[in-house]
Amino acid sequence: ERLTAVSVPACFDYALRLFQARLADGAVEVVRHWPEDETWVRADPVRLEQVLVNLIGNALQAMAETPAPRLTLSIHPEATRVRIEVTDNGPGIAEEQLPRIFEPFFTTKSTGSGLGLGLSISARIIDDLGGRLEAGNVDEGGARFTLTLPRDEDPG
Ligand code: ADP
Ligand code: MG
Repeated sequence: ERLTAVSVPACFDYALRLFQARLADGAVEVVRHWPEDETWVRADPVRLEQVLVNLIGNALQAMAETPAPRLTLSIHPEATRVRIEVTDNGPGIAEEQLPRIFEPFFTTKSTGSGLGLGLSISARIIDDLGGRLEAGNVDEGGARFTLTLPRDEDPG
């Protein structure tokens, strides 16, 4: 581990840059729902970026057939931890699949498009960082991944 103070908005922006080509036409609305002041977590920046890339990639794949796709990235700083959410308005996760999606090699994607490793690796990374990764659906329709990590101070 290389634990340092990591800026969560900077991490999100880095992850979004990897999807630049797919987001360029503006078909997917990207909502950045976070405070003006930068929020910091105690983490390994490379691994946190990897997790956010996995979650954003999944969200974009899930919304492939969604008429007005919207990706919402939220940062909620709390006293000692930070809640980070990646929400889409795709079909959501079937209730019977929810308990299984973090299992290695669990995928609902056709052969070749998904190995089913992204979420199991992501959960493991967040666990190692002393945080939590949880999945659920939102009332409006769509999936939400909530990631909680220890808060850190602005390194200045
Ligand atoms: P992969 O993307 O290779 O299938 P993941 O571990 O990333 O593997 O995800 C496992 C499964 O969880 C997916 O196949 C899909 O069924 C479900 N899933 C993950 N993210 C979403 C999402 N945003 N919306 C709906 N289902 C999702
Ligand atoms: Mg995936």
